[in-house]
Amino acid sequence: MYTTKIDEVDYGIKPMNCPGGMLVYKSKMHSYKDLPIRAGELGLVHRHEKSGQLNGLFRVRCFTQDDAHIFCLPEQIESEIINLMHLINKVYSMFGFKYTVELSTRPEDSMGSDEDWEMAEGALRKALEHENIPYELNEGDGAFYGPKIDFHIKDCLGRDWQCGTIQLDFQMPERFDLTYIGEDGEKHRPVMLHRVIFGSIERFIGILIEHYAGAFPLWLSPVQVKIIPIADRQLDYAKKLQEKLNKNGIRVELDERQEKIGYKIREAQMEKVPYMLVVGDKEVEANVASVRDRKEGDIGQMNIDDFIAKLNDELKSSLEVVNG
Ligand code: ZN
Repeated sequence: MYTTKIDEVDYGIKPMNCPGGMLVYKSKMHSYKDLPIRAGELGLVHRHEKSGQLNGLFRVRCFTQDDAHIFCLPEQIESEIINLMHLINKVYSMFGFKYTVELSTRPEDSMGSDEDWEMAEGALRKALEHENIPYELNEGDGAFYGPKIDFHIKDCLGRDWQCGTIQLDFQMPERFDLTYIGEDGEKHRPVMLHRVIFGSIERFIGILIEHYAGAFPLWLSPVQVKIIPIADRQLDYAKKLQEKLNKNGIRVELDERQEKIGYKIREAQMEKVPYMLVVGDKEVEANVASVRDRKEGDIGQMNIDDFIAKLNDELKSSLEVVNG
């Protein structure tokens, strides 16, 4: 942790979001009717890793977790886990990742009663079986405070990355004395799940860059189209194309530099921009642009409306993959 002293008081910068999640729950009274409560956050955390351990985007000292804490009744655990597995499947499919699943059960040294563990492990197992998800069993490999399901994604080079986790926790609700008022009017302890899907956003972006070798699919590319005028006299026309693409929600950049056309194309190619629109006198006259595809090279002239329709088709079909 990063720690400091201010006015004789010790302070630390949070290395995890969980305690904050507990305090948010505790900030008001809850009835069984309020549950499940699903509280998500993009939480910034700091960890003082040794400098030799730092590695690109994969291991950094400050990163953002897509964290959530779910507070529920014991009988809601299974359906909450099924919900999460659907969400995780949807997110990973969007990027074309295959993944494997591991279930880790009670270690020798653990907190909580036998009943708690039986109920929790049973719920995780039933959720996996209900969804017909094959999984590997890591007997005794859970945390001392609860069992968990880990999700490992495989990138295009076959490397394995642990990203998503669904973790049951008996300890924190106890330590923070979390309660809800049950149907019987008495106080009860909620069950708590921690979950992340990306894990660390920074690390996940590192994995994506490797996975696509920098050539992001169209929907994910920070710049989708680069407009490259051959000379300054086509600049006005190029700006009109840029405005039209912008209006249609396409992320576009205009290369206004007075460089040679070959140089500008090569640079856009190196940046792996999915499409280039090259405009010279002929294109201005015919009210078209010469389209270059990152993979196929020159694919001929197109008017801007047809080009936008082509991009929209491509974007729509990548969405269809996700939504089945
Ligand atoms: Zn947590």
